[in-house]
Amino acid sequence: MDRPFPFRRPPMPTDYDPNNIFAKILRGELPCHKVFEDDVALAFMDIMPRADGHTLVIPKTPARNLIDIAPDTLGELMKRVQHVAKGVQKAMAAEGLTIQQFNESAGGQVVFHIHFHILPRWEGVRLRPHTGEMAPKETLQEQAARIRAALA
Ligand code: 5GP
Repeated sequence: MDRPFPFRRPPMPTDYDPNNIFAKILRGELPCHKVFEDDVALAFMDIMPRADGHTLVIPKTPARNLIDIAPDTLGELMKRVQHVAKGVQKAMAAEGLTIQQFNESAGGQVVFHIHFHILPRWEGVRLRPHTGEMAPKETLQEQAARIRAALA
C-alpha cells in the first residue's frame, strides 16, 4: 500500500509548518510562561502539564522532530535541555525527572516543532493523563517564576 507521509519517508525540513503553535510562540504571536531563552532555545511551561513544573524546551531553528533536526543544532539544544532540567529540578524540589520527546503522530507527537518535555517526578506520584485541561494561569506563572529564579 502506498501510504502518505509520514509513513512513506522520513520527514524533511520542507515538511515544517511555520504556523505550528510553537512557531507562533517563538515569533511572539502567542504568549507563553517563559523560563529560559538564549540564541539557541526557548523554554516555557506546558499549558496542559502532566506534572507540576512540566516544562518544554524548543530550538529557535525550525525543525519538525528528531529526524530532520541538524545534528549540531540538536547538540546545542541538548545542552539547554540539561541546563533547564537542573533549574526545574531545583525549583520544584523534584526527586527525579522524566525527559520525553515524541516523533510523528504514531510516536505521540502533537505539535510539529521539535520539543523536549521536562517532567519533575516524586516517588509514588504518577504523571497525570493527557486530559486537554489547561492549568490555571496563576499556577504556571508562579512555577515559571520559581524556575527562572533557580536558573538565575
Ligand atoms: P507532544 O507534541 O510532544 O505530544 O506535546 C505537545 C505539548 O505541547 C503537550 O504537552 C501540550 O500540553 C503542549 N501544548 C500544546 N499547545 C500549547 C500551547 O499553546 N502552549 C503551551 N505552553 N503548551 C502547549
